[in-house]
Amino acid sequence: MGKTTIEVQQGDITKVQVDAVVNAANSSLLGGGGVDGAIHRAGGPAILEECKLIRARQGGCPTGEAVITTGGNLPARYVIHTVGPVWSGGGKGEPELLANCYRNSLRLAEENGVKSIAFPNISTGVYGYPKDKAAKVAVDAVQSYMQEHETSIKRVVFVCFDEENLTLYEGLLKG
Ligand code: ADP
Repeated sequence: MGKTTIEVQQGDITKVQVDAVVNAANSSLLGGGGVDGAIHRAGGPAILEECKLIRARQGGCPTGEAVITTGGNLPARYVIHTVGPVWSGGGKGEPELLANCYRNSLRLAEENGVKSIAFPNISTGVYGYPKDKAAKVAVDAVQSYMQEHETSIKRVVFVCFDEENLTLYEGLLKG
């Protein structure tokens, strides 16, 4: 099926031209601060309407899982909402749950014919996951997904909001 390119860029994920952007949501699916707030603001009310329908159907989204909605007014066609773990020292299954966010988002993307997808640095804001550890989990999860699946996804972009994450991802992906 050909190779998938993995890129890093710094910026605002609501402006990225891809088929799907991933949202670091919370389990209520009703919106919040950080990247979640930015996506709902830029994408408009259609995203929240669909989130509410999903919530009515399945009662929110558990940590590590993902759901998909329209991208509303975003350049992206879809938003994939995934719920990262809150960091509580690393002994509560956080790495596995964070890896699940990336894996389940990629699976859902693939099921919806997505060819390009952008991820924010899930859990590294309010949820307090140490950035270096989160970056390693993210890169490992995406790379191993690509090795284990015959994927039709052509392009994965890690969108880093801050310089520290940008440097970490560049270090992990170079070479
Ligand atoms: P979480 O609750 O999963 O920690 P946050 O939204 O607080 O989610 O933070 C996740 C990451 O998203 C942080 O690294 C934060 O700097 C980043 N972020 C915030 N706004 C944006 C945006 N508009 N585009 C991309 N990344 C963003």
